[in-house]
Amino acid sequence: MKKNKKMDKKVGRVLINKEQIKKRTKELAKQISKDYKDKNLVCITILRGAFMFLADLCREITVPAKFDFMAISSYGDKSESSGVVRIYKDLDMNIAEKDVLIIEDIVDTGRTMDYLLRNLKTRNPKSIEICTLLNKPANRIVNIKIKYVGFEISPEFVIGYGLDFAEDYRHIEDVRVFEED
Ligand code: 5GP
Repeated sequence: MKKNKKMDKKVGRVLINKEQIKKRTKELAKQISKDYKDKNLVCITILRGAFMFLADLCREITVPAKFDFMAISSYGDKSESSGVVRIYKDLDMNIAEKDVLIIEDIVDTGRTMDYLLRNLKTRNPKSIEICTLLNKPANRIVNIKIKYVGFEISPEFVIGYGLDFAEDYRHIEDVRVFEED
């Protein structure tokens, strides 16, 4: 995307640049490939925020894997957690007896992930783990065990690399702090 000065100011400073993301994504994929050797890996990606992370991560995964998607919402147009989770699109696959890896953009309060875990566990997967690009532990309300974390960040609202504010800014290549005008 071509950026202009005005947009640079609005979207704020770069928190994690594309080179850092690329390097960390490779490391995560290497670990995942090692851990899921000889397993039935099904990656479940949560739309829409994790689409870019998945696209980069999956190309570095070297073991057999299947992919499915869920679309949920936990945020409206505001920069705060509503605690209300709605499924807009459910999985197409049956995940019973599969080794499920949830690919998420960011875990903040943990409410969304808590809901997802409880929902997916009722479908009897063999195992279920979480891989999130970003983790904001300072905001946690529900305790969640996360196996793969890209980056731990401070409790600022971030955008870019798939993450939005009111559906904008997803196509920015770095993770940036959002600064409202
Ligand atoms: P939680 O339920 O853990 O509070 O929130 C999880 C969801 O909230 C994420 O999947 C993401 O959609 C959204 N979210 C949390 N923090 C941020 C943030 O800093 N930026 C953006 N764009 N979304 C966030």
